[in-house]
Amino acid sequence: MIICKRIKDIEKQLVALRKEGKKVSFAPTMGALHSGHISLVKARQKAGWVTVCSIFVNPTQFNDKADFEKYPITIEGDIMKLIEAGCDILFLPTVAEMYPDGFENKKPVDFGFLAQTLEGEHRPGHFDGMAQIVEKLLRIVKPDTLYMGQKDYQQQLIVSKLIEKRKLPTKLIAYPTLREKDGLAMSSRNVRLDAHSRKVAVQLSKVLRSSILKIEDSKLKRKAADATAIMNTAKAALAKHPEFEVEYYELRDAANLQPLATIAPKQKVVALVAAKIGGVRLIDNMVG
Ligand code: AMP
Repeated sequence: MIICKRIKDIEKQLVALRKEGKKVSFAPTMGALHSGHISLVKARQKAGWVTVCSIFVNPTQFNDKADFEKYPITIEGDIMKLIEAGCDILFLPTVAEMYPDGFENKKPVDFGFLAQTLEGEHRPGHFDGMAQIVEKLLRIVKPDTLYMGQKDYQQQLIVSKLIEKRKLPTKLIAYPTLREKDGLAMSSRNVRLDAHSRKVAVQLSKVLRSSILKIEDSKLKRKAADATAIMNTAKAALAKHPEFEVEYYELRDAANLQPLATIAPKQKVVALVAAKIGGVRLIDNMVG
């Protein structure tokens, strides 16, 4: 695996590989890699493709300074995992390399409602910072395919809009969420959970699954489902665990995140949750 810390170095490597006719797949990350990240790295490993992964903890997408400062950094372990996974190029820039002229985003994309709701409401500025760094990375790596996790459901919808609005020559592929054996969505933040919080955290995925099962049951019966009633049941189930500080639990239209009162049998929906537990903020979602 080649490690590039400078933009000009990775660009040089990629120009040479493209001249050989290679195509590029890309998985951007903030490190502290787990199997979910590795599944994105491995997604397009076949003849004629080069796999690029980036590790960069992007300061402009953290609205909470403490969350940024406590973000786990495990770079040596990450490098070992990427080598083992067969990654070809790791892009590992510094903050100065990515933001030589400061953090100001001079021409932000307006994502409208998509970036104002849910995570956008609870983490002001998060999506502007995320889109700012993803655009910079896409302009450097120019991947043919970009792999992102459904775990960050709203994020991949916004990146898809970014690609469309900026007319970038990249195809976004959203990959399913990898989970621990008990169902907890893998996350770099899970290492910060104490033993008790870790045990309770699994309820997030259990409650999501139960909402989706109810929706799928209605769909099978070709009946409309009552979104409000399903959300209220889910919130009541989470409220049984006082350890959770729930920020939102919502059922939304899977394509545009618009709120729903009822769910028609053909409607694709996503159930999304964000909650803090033991000082750690977790998000998860499931589609039905
Ligand atoms: P992060 O390092 O948290 O910014 O995540 C980098 C990429 O990995 C994003 O596209 C995430 O959606 C994806 N990702 C994070 N957790 C998982 C997971 N459990 N399964 C699959 N992909 C994930």
